[in-house]
Amino acid sequence: MNIQTVGVVGAGVMGVGVAQNLAQTNHQVILVDISEDILDKAKQEIRNNIRFQSFFKKTDNTETPNTVISRIEFSTNYKLLEAADFVVENVTEKWDIKKQVYSLLDSICPADSVFAANTSAIPITRIASVTKRADKVIGMHFMNPVPMKPMVEVIRGYHTSEQTIEIAKKMLTQMGKECIIVNDSPGFVSNRVLMLTINEAVFLLQDQVATVEDVDKIFKSCFGHKMGPLETADLIGLDTILFSIEVLYENFNDSKYRPCPLLKKMVDAGLHGKKSGKGFYVYQ
Ligand code: NAD
Repeated sequence: MNIQTVGVVGAGVMGVGVAQNLAQTNHQVILVDISEDILDKAKQEIRNNIRFQSFFKKTDNTETPNTVISRIEFSTNYKLLEAADFVVENVTEKWDIKKQVYSLLDSICPADSVFAANTSAIPITRIASVTKRADKVIGMHFMNPVPMKPMVEVIRGYHTSEQTIEIAKKMLTQMGKECIIVNDSPGFVSNRVLMLTINEAVFLLQDQVATVEDVDKIFKSCFGHKMGPLETADLIGLDTILFSIEVLYENFNDSKYRPCPLLKKMVDAGLHGKKSGKGFYVYQ
């Protein structure tokens, strides 16, 4: 199967990165979201990211932003996804939203196209259950920012076929990425650990054990991590962190995943991290 046209659903933090990465590796992309405003912002972000990449020499790709953007069709019309060989879904981490999106995709996309869910924690088997192609649904957990991160956590759902795994690996190779394949479980490997760590770091802040800066500094200076848990939370988006920990709580029925009240309060207050200009830190 030759993958040429890729549908990218959701044009937020992750959808923008996935669409850019695909277009920079010569794919035709159909980027779908629910409003023209979001799509205009996505286009501008891709333009800025490419300028940033070439200014700081973060890529060998010398194409101009216009050339890359010309490979992306920005639309609110799901019907365009009739042409997609492969779909990467990146909508909000809410089961009610994902459920609707997958049944819509299933009714529109060609029967042989593969659906890759870029979810943080929702089980792939559950996502596959709302489609009539459970063998063609796979988890593709990209890291943020997508164009800069070479490794992807790939998740095999209960019904995911070997053929789908091969197609997904091919897709990632075409995007210049490698993958680690794991079995399905809420949060997979990465976020079962990371979301718990971030949530506990917010509890530390709530309990006034240390400042934001000192919590992060301990992870960077003592453990050699590139970023602390609170900086990481800002980069991911505090709303996405909250939704993900709620998914873990609901799926494992284990109180260790209860979301920290301070995290909930910050999300209610609109402090969603880097994407909103303010989270644990302030951004220009
Ligand atoms: P985001 O909030 O930045 O973007 C979500 C986008 O989905 C928004 O633009 C929203 O308008 C769009 N959307 C909502 N309903 C839609 C619908 N019915 N059809 C089309 N678009 C719709 O979130 P994000 O950080 O980009 O996360 C997207 C997915 O990727 C989530 O499942 C998240 O858990 C996962 N993820 C996030 C990160 C991260 O670091 N942020 C990393 C890996 C995976």
